[in-house]
Amino acid sequence: MIKIQDGLQKPLPMPDGDTAVFWNGLREGKLLLQHCLDCQSVHYYQQGICRQCGSQRLEHRAASGRGTVHSYSVVHRAPGRAFKDDTPYAVLLVKLEEGPHMISSLVDGDPEKVDFDMPLQLVCEKLSDEVTLPRFRPA
Ligand SMILES: [Zn+2]
Repeated sequence: MIKIQDGLQKPLPMPDGDTAVFWNGLREGKLLLQHCLDCQSVHYYQQGICRQCGSQRLEHRAASGRGTVHSYSVVHRAPGRAFKDDTPYAVLLVKLEEGPHMISSLVDGDPEKVDFDMPLQLVCEKLSDEVTLPRFRPA
């Protein structure tokens, strides 16, 4: 869930009951993925049952933090005033080592040098006491 405060502030995710474990993990520097104990599939989006087999036997495990660029887009025109100072920046579709894909963005690297299959490393960026965002830097 995203809360839009006003045009000058970036929207922040709002942890709720379903995603509290995930956000707590990020605060401790861990990107938690859900592993199905029945079919072994791995999920990024938090859910109550396995999307593959319907099992409720899901277990959180920390991702390695390694991934690659599956796709990307370099943003030159900010979507709002709050993002004006960030441009250009790269929005990434990251393929995690464990299999799932997730949307994130690049830190500590030149957005113009992002390329397909570029190796990435997770960076947990603390924004507030409640919210730490999973972002990625070149590995
Ligand atoms: Zn399953």
